[in-house]
Amino acid sequence: MLEFTLVKHPDDIRVKLNEFNPLTTTWIVSDLKSKQEIQQQCIEKYGFYSDEAILRVSDFWKMWMRRLAPSTQIVSSEFIRVLISQFIESYGHVYSIQAHEAKTLYKYVSDLAPLLLHPHSFEVLIDWIEEKETKPQWSKWIAISQGCLDYIAQEHNCIESAWIVSYLQKLALEKIVWPKKLVFDLGSQMTSLEMGLLNTLARDNQIEIIVPDPEWKNKFHFILNTYKDYSGFAATTASQHTDASKKLSAQNFIRFNSEINEIKFITTKIRGWIEAGVKPENILVLSPRIEDYWPILNFHLEAEGIHTQKDLVSSLISLGVIQRWLSTIHAQTKNVTWSKLEMSYASYAEDNKFQFEKFKAAFTELLDDGDLARLLAAKELFYQKINLDEKLKRDQFLVAMLQSWITVDPGLEHKKLLQGVIKDFIQQTVDVRLRLSDWLTLLSSRLAKKEIKVEQTAKSGVQVLPINSAQVLDATHRLWVGLDESGLKGKQTSLIPLSDIEELKKTFDLALDYPEESHADFNLRWYAMADCKEQHFTCAHVSTTGEPLTTSLYFLENNKKPQAVDYPATLVDIRQQKFNPDQHKDLEKKLNLETMAHPIEISNFNFKSLAPTDIESYDQCSFKFLARKGFRLQQYDVLGLEIDPRQKGTLIHDLFKFIVQDKNYLTIGEKEISAHLEKERVARNLFPFLDVFWGPHKEKLIAIGLKFIAAEKARLSAFTSVRHKTEETIQVFYDLVKFEFTQTEPAGPHFLIRGRLDRLDVDENTKQGMVIDYKSTKTSASNFYDKWVDNSEFQLLIYSLAVEQMFGVTNVGAIYYFYKTLEQKHGYLVDENNVFKDYVKFSKKTLIKPEAQTDLYASFQTKMKEIFTNIEQKTYAVKPADRKFCEKCEWIGTCRVKNLK
Ligand code: SF4
Repeated sequence: MLEFTLVKHPDDIRVKLNEFNPLTTTWIVSDLKSKQEIQQQCIEKYGFYSDEAILRVSDFWKMWMRRLAPSTQIVSSEFIRVLISQFIESYGHVYSIQAHEAKTLYKYVSDLAPLLLHPHSFEVLIDWIEEKETKPQWSKWIAISQGCLDYIAQEHNCIESAWIVSYLQKLALEKIVWPKKLVFDLGSQMTSLEMGLLNTLARDNQIEIIVPDPEWKNKFHFILNTYKDYSGFAATTASQHTDASKKLSAQNFIRFNSEINEIKFITTKIRGWIEAGVKPENILVLSPRIEDYWPILNFHLEAEGIHTQKDLVSSLISLGVIQRWLSTIHAQTKNVTWSKLEMSYASYAEDNKFQFEKFKAAFTELLDDGDLARLLAAKELFYQKINLDEKLKRDQFLVAMLQSWITVDPGLEHKKLLQGVIKDFIQQTVDVRLRLSDWLTLLSSRLAKKEIKVEQTAKSGVQVLPINSAQVLDATHRLWVGLDESGLKGKQTSLIPLSDIEELKKTFDLALDYPEESHADFNLRWYAMADCKEQHFTCAHVSTTGEPLTTSLYFLENNKKPQAVDYPATLVDIRQQKFNPDQHKDLEKKLNLETMAHPIEISNFNFKSLAPTDIESYDQCSFKFLARKGFRLQQYDVLGLEIDPRQKGTLIHDLFKFIVQDKNYLTIGEKEISAHLEKERVARNLFPFLDVFWGPHKEKLIAIGLKFIAAEKARLSAFTSVRHKTEETIQVFYDLVKFEFTQTEPAGPHFLIRGRLDRLDVDENTKQGMVIDYKSTKTSASNFYDKWVDNSEFQLLIYSLAVEQMFGVTNVGAIYYFYKTLEQKHGYLVDENNVFKDYVKFSKKTLIKPEAQTDLYASFQTKMKEIFTNIEQKTYAVKPADRKFCEKCEWIGTCRVKNLK
C-alpha cells in the first residue's frame, strides 16, 4: 500500500519522528548525517536501534541489488569510463565512434541508463523517434549507448552505483518484501525513477512517503513534480500546521561587503550565543559552499577557542607512503617524469646519497627512461621495469603493485592501509584484461577519492554542515551562510533537452530524471522554516578571492535593502589591535636579520684568495658574493639535449685557444677543428653514444671556428711581430696597507687575486700588449671602458695592471672580443705610438690619451680600496648596487630581495 503524507512544515516531520518505533518501522533518509541523527534519537529514546531500522536510500537500493542480482558487481565510475574506452577500441568501427568521444558517450550512457536498462523501453524509444518529424540530435546516441551498456552490464557483468535504481527496474521486484512499514523521508532528493519503483513495491509492502508541501511549492515545479506524478496511486493525508505561512524577519538577512566580514560576524555571533549559555552543539552553521568558508571560519573559531563538529579529512593519495609508491611505479616506466623520479629516488636516499642539486641538474630535462643512464644508481633502480603498454588481468596488476609496495614499505609498517587500498580496488573493479596504464590511472583515481580522517571532531562542538545535511538536525540557533547565487543556483546536467524528457514522461511514462533544479535552494527554504530560537541569513558582495558575488533570489525576497550591522571585534581583530610599537620594533629587527636588508657581520668567513669575478660580484651585491664564496652555493646547469651554456663556453674558449696558439689560424682548417672537437668530446664525456645529438653541436662549433680563423687570418697577417699568450693564469696581490696591486706578497694584510686571462697579444719589438676577453655577444656586462667602474666590470682592468707587472708589457690596451659578430670595439687603447692602433677598427671613443687612462686607473683604484676594505670588514647585506643586477642574478630565488621595498 502506498501512502503520501503531505507536510506543510518541516517540524511536522519531527513530530512524526517522535512517534517512530524502530521495531515496527524502517525510516529511510537521503544522507548520512540525518541517518546518524535519527540513530542517536533512537538510542536516547529506546536505548537501541537495529541496522535495518534507519537506512540511507542508496544503501536500501544497494542491498536489494545484491540480493536480486548477486553476480552483478557495482563498480566505480572511473572503471566504467575505462570500460567505455575499451568498448570504443573494440566496437568503435561498428558504431562509427572515435576514442575522443568517450567522455560524451559516458554522459549519454549515464543519462539514458534509466531508459535503456528498462526491459521494454528501447523499442518504445525507437518507435517514438521514428514517428517524430524532426529527429532529436541525441537520437543517434541511443543505439551506441545501448550497445555500450550491454557491453558493460552483460559482457562484464557490472554497473556503476548511480545506475542501481535503473537496473532494479528489470529485476524481480516482487521478491522485495519488507517485514516492517517503510517510511521514505527523502525531501527534494526523491527521483522519479525511485518513485516508480516504490509504486511497484507498494503492491506487497506498506510504504509511506513524506512529501514536502510548503505554500511556496510552485516555485519548484520539477523537484516536487516527482511526487505529483504518482499522487493518483496513493492515499493522501495532509498535516496541518499553524506556522506554515510565518514570514522570516527581514532584519535577520544581513549582507556584508566581503566574506571575511561575514565570517567575522558569524564568529562573534557564535561567541555571543555561547557566552549567553547556548550549548555549542545547539548551534548550526550551514552553507551551500561550506568548504569555501571553512578554512577561514575555522581559523577564527579556533582563535576564540570554539570547538566544532567537522572532521578533518584527507585523501589517501596525499599520504607520503602512497605518494612514494605511485612515484616509484611511474619511475619504473618509460613515462618517468622528473617530479616522480625525485620523489621515488628520495625513498632510497639512505643508500643513494647524491647531492640534490646535481641530481636535479641531471634529470630536470627527463625525456624518457633512457636519460636515467646519467646516474647509474637511478638506472639500476628504475630502468624500464614496467611496460605500460602490456595488457594484464587485475590480479596480475595487483601482484606487480605489491612488489612495488615492498620497495617503499619493506617492513610493512602500513599493512592496514595497503589492505584497505587493495580491498577497495577489488570491490570497485572487475577482473578484466586492461592496459597497465589504465590500471594505474584507476588506482590513482581511487586513491584520490578515498578519504581518511586526520582529526576526529569534538562531540560537543558547533555543527558545521552543507545545507543538504540539515534535514533532521535539532538546533536552537542557526546561521545560514554564503547565500549568494553561486552556491544556490541549479545546474543543467542532462544532455537530453527538458522538452524531450517531459514528452517521454507524459507519453510513455518512461522514467528519466528531470534536470536538476537547485536542491540547495529548496532545502534552504524548507529547513529554514523549522522552529528555532534565533537564526540569521548572510551573504557577501565579494568572495575571499576577490570575485564579485550575486545575491541570491531567496535573500532578496526576504530583504531587498539589507542594512549595515555593527558587530564586536573577533579575538583575531583584538590581537591585531594590541600589536604595540615595541613588538613592532622586535619584528623589524627580526625581519632585518632574516632579510639581511642592512649589513650584518659574518665573521666566520675569511677570504684571502679571490677571483676577479668575486670582486665584481661583491660590488654588485655583497650577498651575491657571500652565496657563492661563503655559503658555497652552486647552480648546476640542466643536462639535456643541449650542451649546457657553461660547458659550451669552455668548449669555445678551448677551440679559440687551439686556433690562436702558435698562430694555428694561418694553417689549419675544418679537418683539424673537427679532430680537435672529437678529442674534446671524449675528454669531456659529451653525448656518449648519442652521435645524433652531438652532430649538430659539432657543426655549429666548426662554423664558429672557421669564421674565427678567417677573421684572425685577415686581421693579423700584417702583425708578424705579435705573439699570443692564451689561457694564462694571472696572479696579483692587493696590499691592504698601501692599497695597491703588487707582484710581491705584502707582509701586512692583503688579498691574493687569481684568474685566467683568455688572451694576451704582445708585440715582440715594442713590448706593447693587448688584453682580450672573449664574449659571445654584447650584453649589459660588456660596456665601453668609461662605464666599467660604475658597472662593476673590473676584470679587464685587473688583468691590464697584472700583465704589466707579470710580463713587463707596456701601453696595455684591453678589449672585449664578441665572437658571434667578430666585433672588438668595447675597450680602450692608449693611442700614442701604439702598434695595435690598426689592429682592430678602434673608434674615437676607444682610442684614448694617456691622461684618460690615468683617470680610469685612478677611479678604479679608489673603487678597489673601498671594496677590499669592505670585504675585510666581513659585513654583508642583500643590497644590490643597482636593481638591474638582480635581473640575471642566480640567487634571486634564494635571497630576500623580493621581500624588500
Ligand atoms: S638577486 Fe639582487 S639582491 Fe639578491 S643576491 Fe642577487 S643581486 Fe643581490
